[in-house]
Amino acid sequence: MYYSENTSIYLDGQWLKAGDAKVSLYNQSMHYGSGVFEGIRAYDVAGEAAVFKAEEHYERLLDSAKKMHIRCHYTVEQLTELTYELLDKNNLTDAYIRPLIFLGDNMTLYKVEEVHLFLCAWEWGKYLGDTLLNVMVSSYERPNPRAVPVEAKVTGHYTNSILATTEAKGKGFDEALLLDENGSVAEGSGANFFYEQDGVLYTPPLGNILPGITRSTVMDIAKELGYEVHVAYFPPEKVKGADGAFFTGTAAEVAGIGWLDGNPFKLAWEDTIGYQVAQAYQKLVRQPSRKPLTSA
Ligand code: PMP
Repeated sequence: MYYSENTSIYLDGQWLKAGDAKVSLYNQSMHYGSGVFEGIRAYDVAGEAAVFKAEEHYERLLDSAKKMHIRCHYTVEQLTELTYELLDKNNLTDAYIRPLIFLGDNMTLYKVEEVHLFLCAWEWGKYLGDTLLNVMVSSYERPNPRAVPVEAKVTGHYTNSILATTEAKGKGFDEALLLDENGSVAEGSGANFFYEQDGVLYTPPLGNILPGITRSTVMDIAKELGYEVHVAYFPPEKVKGADGAFFTGTAAEVAGIGWLDGNPFKLAWEDTIGYQVAQAYQKLVRQPSRKPLTSA
């Protein structure tokens, strides 16, 4: 699903066939989760790939690396350039792009100087599907921000996400909503969270969540549409029985939620602010983005 015999990937300065790439089994990231990554989407705009907010994604990648003491020598411009090259080489326009920075061999728990960059892309539909989501409040909390930098997109953080989705799916739900260490709503396993009450959107503040690029795009869209967005801590009880709710993320885009712990939201999805925002988001991502000047 992710690659075929024709798929090209980028690894440390080389373009290789995905099946030919080799990594050492002794790399520190694989054993201890000390890698950083991104999830980016490109959209087909009149037959050309337009990478949505490439700069913001690569700034966040470099920031995640810095927070994990990982030295990355690539610039945002170089990474953007390589991304367009990757899409060209694979004839992809609508695609999900996965950059991963991982470390070299080291079985200690000390900082590693050897840093690797891997870029790949594949076609990926809507991550959370097209129907309204049946969500449960997870028994797993988001990681404590005093234990790890939760605002960094670190591979190891996703063990928390995998536990939460496994629990949710095992209980017959589609997705999990995770709380922070104080019992306030934080975010989904791989997406930020909003709910709607009396014509106003509410979303948790930064601190216990990944600062989602879709989250900030959605906040801008909602304001442009004339809606207020309140950034505030709230318990899950406030959300149950509210007017509407949705997740936001690069992979998920804007995904409507139908139920939280079995409680339906009051409005039909089509009558919510979330629905209007979802339509506007689909338009926005399909606007031409500027290719880097030096790109072939
Ligand atoms: N929270 C988590 C935990 C995520 O993994 C993601 C996906 N990157 C998001 C939020 C949404 O972030 P973005 O909108 O930048 O994709």
